[in-house]
Amino acid sequence: MTLKYQKIGDILLVKKKLTNNEINYLINKTKCKTIVKYTYIKGDMRKPNIELLYGDKTETIHKEHGCLFKIDVSKVMWSMGNIEERKRMAYTSNPNETVVDMFAGIGYFTIPMAKYSKPKKIYAIEINPDSHYYLVENIKLNKLNNVVPILSDNRDVELKNMADRVIMGYILKTRFFLDKAFEFLKEGKKCTIHYHDTLAEKIMDTEPINEIKHHAEKHGYNLLSYKIHKIKKYAPGVWHIVVNAELIKDK
Ligand code: SAM
Repeated sequence: MTLKYQKIGDILLVKKKLTNNEINYLINKTKCKTIVKYTYIKGDMRKPNIELLYGDKTETIHKEHGCLFKIDVSKVMWSMGNIEERKRMAYTSNPNETVVDMFAGIGYFTIPMAKYSKPKKIYAIEINPDSHYYLVENIKLNKLNNVVPILSDNRDVELKNMADRVIMGYILKTRFFLDKAFEFLKEGKKCTIHYHDTLAEKIMDTEPINEIKHHAEKHGYNLLSYKIHKIKKYAPGVWHIVVNAELIKDK
């Protein structure tokens, strides 16, 4: 019997309704406590919509790459497809940096980066109170002292000219937040923006970098280099990509 599922902690996420036989098979195979049917993620806060198929608790602790993530799958999203990107991002910073994570969620990028790159400080901004709650829990669970969780719309956060690195882990509307990202960036030294978006294959090598170039010019930054990285296939002919752009603004 081949059944597709994602395992988060002791919870299984499936995309379709299951028969009782299939439920019993998965319980015996994975020793899970809960099985939920994930239908879709909606709205700016990316809230999931689930249906309980087995069990009753939707909160669990998931371990990935040595990091602990407490999560309630009925309230916040988890993207298995971003696992390699979370690992890659964990090592991109260093102890001399200040980082802003504009769309922190429960700490998907912030927690591994804080643990492994050990930057001076990561300001982790999150608008959804549910995600922010788990972000605060996960900072404690991973015993981190270099993360400042901020419950806010990132556009309302006043942190000017202080970030060596800005993480824009969002999709569909990321370009509308570029002005704010440049406001966070330091002047007078090389900085990095990690700009995520989902785009059709034929424009993914041009559109995002043109957006960044346009905003760099507007804010007086020079684009020094950039690398486009495919994260996962998002839909037929559509990729979730990240542009890692290095920029500088002479003082
Ligand atoms: N960066 C994580 C990742 O890639 O796995 C989480 C991505 S999730 C799709 C985007 C997160 O950004 C959600 O938790 C959502 O609530 C949050 N968000 C959306 N708009 C925001 C805003 N204006 N300010 C701060 N957080 C926001």
